[in-house]
Amino acid sequence: MNSVATIVGGGLAGLSAALFLRRKRIEVRVIEAKCGVIDRVCGEGILPFGVEILEELGLAKQARARGRVLKGIKYLCGKRVAVGRFDGKTGIGVPRHELHQIFRAACKNEGVELCEGRSVSVEEGWVDARGLRALRERSPMITSRRVGARMRLNIDIGDRVCVAFEPFGEIYMTPIGPQQTSVAFLVYPNCVPPGVDWSIWLKAKFESCFPEYGECPLQDFAVRAPIAGFSTEPLGSRKAVGDSLCAFDPISGSGMSFALLSAYHLAQYWQDQTSFVRAIQPAIKAIDSFTGLLLWCSGGGWRSSLMTRQLARRPALFNEILRLHDAKHQVTDLGALKLGMLITP
Ligand SMILES: Cc1cc2nc3c(=O)[nH]c(=O)nc-3n(C[C@H](O)[C@H](O)[C@H](O)COP(=O)(O)OP(=O)(O)OC[C@H]3O[C@@H](n4cnc5c(N)ncnc54)[C@H](O)[C@@H]3O)c2cc1C
Repeated sequence: MNSVATIVGGGLAGLSAALFLRRKRIEVRVIEAKCGVIDRVCGEGILPFGVEILEELGLAKQARARGRVLKGIKYLCGKRVAVGRFDGKTGIGVPRHELHQIFRAACKNEGVELCEGRSVSVEEGWVDARGLRALRERSPMITSRRVGARMRLNIDIGDRVCVAFEPFGEIYMTPIGPQQTSVAFLVYPNCVPPGVDWSIWLKAKFESCFPEYGECPLQDFAVRAPIAGFSTEPLGSRKAVGDSLCAFDPISGSGMSFALLSAYHLAQYWQDQTSFVRAIQPAIKAIDSFTGLLLWCSGGGWRSSLMTRQLARRPALFNEILRLHDAKHQVTDLGALKLGMLITP
């Protein structure tokens, strides 16, 4: 052992950073506010570039066994559909708590010290893996918040993640097992009528979208997701991974994969912050440009109804941006992801 690392936040980013640091024979302590296995509202799909890092950690097989292989992404808006296929590589849809369980067990096996049930401030030299909480602290410009809820349905939607854009927000559908689909709603708070409890409103909305599943219990965790926002302020000497380094809008579908990638680079350049920043910058720019394209297609503001129409009109542009988006996420020589696009109006 030649060093000790303290990581604040035991989500995916914090635990993967802990594992990569342990592989470098660094002693690691993770401080997490919650106890036990953590679940949260989110889509549950890991893109192929994140799967590459799971492979690197030796955890992809376990994740696949508890989830489902993904072969692409589909955006839906009314009757318009934009479909992207992963070319030659696959993602994984896996229930979030199962993924956390896999990481937590690996950390315990590999001698990571887990201090759970403690909420602390990040001290100089510690790793900030506190997720959106850290981002909101640093970036007051990200003020708009969406609220969300998630549930799981016993239905099969094929092997693609689906993002459906509705006037009230987005619905993320991720296949997570045979006949199992995770459905997360992310809703603009101003869509909820004043004085109405958002979780009651959301449940009614869910029931109207999926009438045949109205009896399913809605897991109504609140999330504070950035609204079409991301923060790329200079890192300086701050060590950070995952959402607390740079949060992307969920539409990019990259959050977990970026958490894994940033953890990989952090450990790789543990003693060299400049190289860490240099290594992670291309991924940040690539995801930014992807999200930026989606926002641009939505007409500057957030008008998702326009977005899919624009994508359908410009398949070549969408294809190119997706290519750029994914080609930049290589860990070492992992090859470009290359999404083949098929746009159907
Ligand atoms: C609706 C929605 C859909 C999404 N869909 C996808 C998707 O399909 N695919 C994808 O890859 N990503 C998706 N994301 C994004 C993804 O969930 C996040 O990017 C990812 O979870 C970030 O991981 P993290 O470890 O950085 O943060 P988190 O998972 O938020 O972990 C941070 C941890 O830090 C802890 N913490 C915070 N403050 C303190 C403190 N002071 N002391 C101790 N502990 C603290 C918290 O308790 C938490 O456990 C989605 C997000 C949303 C909201």
